[in-house]
Amino acid sequence: MSMITLALSKGRIFDETLPLLAAAGIEVLEDPEKSRKLILPTNRPDVRVVLVRATDVPTYVEYGGADIGVTGKDTLIEHGGQGLYQPLDLRIAKCRVSVAVRSDFDYAQAVRQGSRLKVATKYTSIAREFFAAKGVHVDMVKLYGSMELAPLTGLADAIVDLVSTGNTLKANQLVEVARIMDISSYLVVNQAALKLKQAPLRRIIDAFASAIPAEKN
Ligand code: AMP
Repeated sequence: MSMITLALSKGRIFDETLPLLAAAGIEVLEDPEKSRKLILPTNRPDVRVVLVRATDVPTYVEYGGADIGVTGKDTLIEHGGQGLYQPLDLRIAKCRVSVAVRSDFDYAQAVRQGSRLKVATKYTSIAREFFAAKGVHVDMVKLYGSMELAPLTGLADAIVDLVSTGNTLKANQLVEVARIMDISSYLVVNQAALKLKQAPLRRIIDAFASAIPAEKN
């Protein structure tokens, strides 16, 4: 019996993957919010869950530290997605990548005049491509968190960040001025594992596919 290792990040992705795992007959036996363990057992002796940082999921799966994983499209684009089989859009952990500025900043003017825009973000690839397509020159400031702070402190004119309800932007007096792309989480599979552990992985992929939430309008 070969072991299947599934890489997940704590929080929304973990929580929203649980129903998909249940559809595959897999139940995680410990709560990651209560346990300090990084390897969580399941009810199946041949399946275990490893908890990694969201941005590390593609790396774990690419190099075989995990056979499969669940990761946001944003993370996948920034990683590059090389070496990963991406069979399913799971339609979970949905949000969008947007541009936001201080409410007193004239974004339309800044973009129209072709002036340089100072952009702070964790999503440098997505931001670079978006502004390049618009012909806007960008000075990119790479951050790892609390992006909302950048326009408030003068570090940047604009941020590129994930937006879900918009509450975080509102709480920091920022306004969403452009939607770059819709985001959801994907199942990613190590390509060698897909050959070596084909039958058990196929069963999990098929069970996940049958349990994907319906498209809401
Ligand atoms: P909200 O206030 O609901 O718009 O959520 C925005 C905050 O939650 C930002 O700090 C985002 O980085 C984070 N966020 C929203 N959706 C997601 C998601 N699907 N995955 C990870 N982080 C998210």
